[in-house]
Amino acid sequence: MNTKMLIDGKLVKGAGTLDIVNPASGRPFIQAERADEAQLQQAVAAAKAAFPHWSGLSFEERGEYLLRLADGLQEMQDELARIVTREQGKPLQQAYAEVMGGIYQLRHYAAQRIEPTVIRENEGSRIIEHRTALGVVAAVTPWNFPFLLVTQKIGPALIAGNTVVAKPAPTTPLSALAIAGVAADVFPAGVLNVIVDENDLGSALTGHADVAKVSFTGSTGTGRKVSAAGASTLKRLTLELGGNDAAIVLDDVSPAEIAPRLFGGAMVNAGQVCLAIKRVYAPSAIYDELCDELAKLAREAVVDDGDKQGTQIGPLQNRMQFDKVLGYLEDARANGSVIAGGEALDRDGYFIAPTIVRDIADDAALVREEQFGPILPVLKYDDIDDAIARANDSDFGLGGTVWGKDIDRAAKVAMKVDSGTVWVNKHLDISFDIPFGGAKQSGIGREGGEEGLHAFTQAHIVNIALT
Ligand code: NAD
Repeated sequence: MNTKMLIDGKLVKGAGTLDIVNPASGRPFIQAERADEAQLQQAVAAAKAAFPHWSGLSFEERGEYLLRLADGLQEMQDELARIVTREQGKPLQQAYAEVMGGIYQLRHYAAQRIEPTVIRENEGSRIIEHRTALGVVAAVTPWNFPFLLVTQKIGPALIAGNTVVAKPAPTTPLSALAIAGVAADVFPAGVLNVIVDENDLGSALTGHADVAKVSFTGSTGTGRKVSAAGASTLKRLTLELGGNDAAIVLDDVSPAEIAPRLFGGAMVNAGQVCLAIKRVYAPSAIYDELCDELAKLAREAVVDDGDKQGTQIGPLQNRMQFDKVLGYLEDARANGSVIAGGEALDRDGYFIAPTIVRDIADDAALVREEQFGPILPVLKYDDIDDAIARANDSDFGLGGTVWGKDIDRAAKVAMKVDSGTVWVNKHLDISFDIPFGGAKQSGIGREGGEEGLHAFTQAHIVNIALT
């Protein structure tokens, strides 16, 4: 397993090391190399030096490099899945899906092309819009999808002609370092650099004068800091931030049918998904039955080490998040009624029993904030417009779901939910050709789709007089 960083084409040791903890045991199992500020400077300088050559290649040429990276990663797909599970905690099957998704994503971006567009051509002039690369991109990622979120940034950044300094979260750097290990033999020096920190280099990287764009995924609080750090040099920003997604259940559904889908959408990756269902609004007519069905599923779920076959829900990823979620459990007990789960498992590691909370007030912390853990509050409503207003009464607006038999009615409700993505009768249907991102304080800009790719470029207009 590669634990070295990638700077200027070489796999290097760091100024220090970082203990990487397996969240299923709470104990360190390996050390990763960690940069100091001087190594961060080297990485940015290498990316800057590599930019003129890399941006001068054709899309086809850059696509070849990305395909070689994808091929190299695919050869070690099983090992990569084990790395994701060991550092992040999710069940191996989900880790495998994450890795394959990331590799597929690199292949998708390898095939992308941006052609110049003729805006106007007549007797007097020819006006063409080219999309040119920006320069050095800082790709900063969180710990919930340590492989996929890295490929999500380096794929479009590199195909568009930018060079990259990637910085994963300090508790899950191994997936990014595995990518670095393969990339070292693929790209020209400096095109992709991967550094690791102990949560101390983010602002130096995102505020660096030689960084043209920051593509950041993480919490809304850190997103604000990234925005502030980029202000002095007016950096281009894509911010994919937190969410508090509501699931609005309509009164024509069967609670028994819908409960497993709501439960799955809330508890995937132990609730540590930006787009997880984080609160449910259910009509009073089916409220009791739905709560009972969800509680039953919570009691039956297999919570264990992600490495063990049959595990459905793994641990929280790190101690800090574990403690934070324990705080939400206290809030749930004080402000609502806990009908399943409600405590940490009595074992090593950061395990929390899947928890269902009913009869909780709208202003409880568990309802207003992003819990990012396996606790689901279920709220009752009598009037659908009231439910929509309560769902929208949030600074977040990342995703959301509407569940109903009458599709037209459900789609109308979806239009009223103020979020970047609203799914109807499905969840987490994400595809690289569909723009994805947040409304309100869930983010700025989009990843994916044409919009997401264009965000790694700028319009370069060439306006020619023909007479
Ligand atoms: P975080 O904001 O604490 O950290 C994210 C990254 O930012 C890490 O690499 C961290 O080291 C770095 N960082 C820390 N301080 C920084 C600073 N001052 N400047 C620049 N970078 C800095 O987030 P987290 O706790 O790792 O991840 C969980 C959050 O991420 C949740 O809020 C979740 O909703 C969000 N998330 C959003 C999406 C999305 O696409 N919208 C996807 C996944 C996760």
